[in-house]
Amino acid sequence: MNEVRGTWFDGGRSKGNPARLRWSNVAVALITDEGLPVSVDRENLQVSSPLPGAPTRITFGGKGSFVTGDFTGVEKLRETLALNPGLASRVERHMPMVVAAAALVIAMLAGLAFWGVPALAARLALTVPEEISAQVSGVLMSQLDAFLEPSSIAPERREELERYFLSHGEVATIEFREAGIFGANAVTLGATMIAFSDELVELAESDEELLAVYFHELGHARLRHVEQNVFRSAAWLVMLTVLTGDIGAVGELLVGLPLSVGLAANSREFEREADAFAVDRLIEADLSPMHLATILQKLEASHLRQDDVEDSTGDGDNGRNPATDSEESSISYSPLDYLSSHPPTEERVAYVRSRMAEID
Ligand SMILES: [Zn+2]
Repeated sequence: MNEVRGTWFDGGRSKGNPARLRWSNVAVALITDEGLPVSVDRENLQVSSPLPGAPTRITFGGKGSFVTGDFTGVEKLRETLALNPGLASRVERHMPMVVAAAALVIAMLAGLAFWGVPALAARLALTVPEEISAQVSGVLMSQLDAFLEPSSIAPERREELERYFLSHGEVATIEFREAGIFGANAVTLGATMIAFSDELVELAESDEELLAVYFHELGHARLRHVEQNVFRSAAWLVMLTVLTGDIGAVGELLVGLPLSVGLAANSREFEREADAFAVDRLIEADLSPMHLATILQKLEASHLRQDDVEDSTGDGDNGRNPATDSEESSISYSPLDYLSSHPPTEERVAYVRSRMAEID
């Protein structure tokens, strides 16, 4: 005769009675410590399948249940009565397979997130009609306009630059804005819109440097990087929702999606692609690719200067610590293109030089 100790709950009162479940090959009996036998229907005996360490609940078809923490005893009961092994022991028995399956699922999800999603986003982005891209650009521009001022560059100069840029490559809309704390910068807002800050126009010492920036942005526009980012983020959010089951938290992320992800998250690979596009176009236009390297270096220097000014005049608002902050501040102050993302300027200049070496 085998037995496990546990507690009998009769299904009426919440308080249980200490009891023993005994069994042999032919019979099962439950006896409380008070000596009361409880009638047990072996045919309806069911054993819950908890994980090791969790109490096991055994029921007999009625209201009552017997709860025990004796995991080994319960396994013995299963064996004697030829019940299905519990989930815990099944997991334990097939542990290598479980681990392999879990690893496979994780690998598949990672593959989907890091290769599948970007590949799909790249395809989908190219199918977005220009009218839709233009609508996205409009929304992004209006969100950005909350932080920007109208351009103070003379309209004639803006028109002159626009004509110059467009003569080297078409885009539907070119915008100019005074960017304030964002400083010298430019940004692509989808396939149809490129925006320059006044500060960038003033920083450049030649129109060729500005054209180099324009080509870089045109690369983002033609390669549909903003649209790709939107598709990527949407796909990742869907995956996140499926994995976490928390649509509320994911919904909150979605609210900030267009501005934060559509613009700021230009990845390393997108920047490289846009730089390569710009260099190709400069060479095609019989201009030196070094114009791109030059303006990149000026941009970096101007942002470092700007950080210095902000650090020394800042009154520590937002709880920022001016002394330790300068490394990050070009990132946090610049949701626009340059310096807001890697690769570092040094690496990008090295790339331009390597392309120069090719054509020499
Ligand atoms: Zn860029």
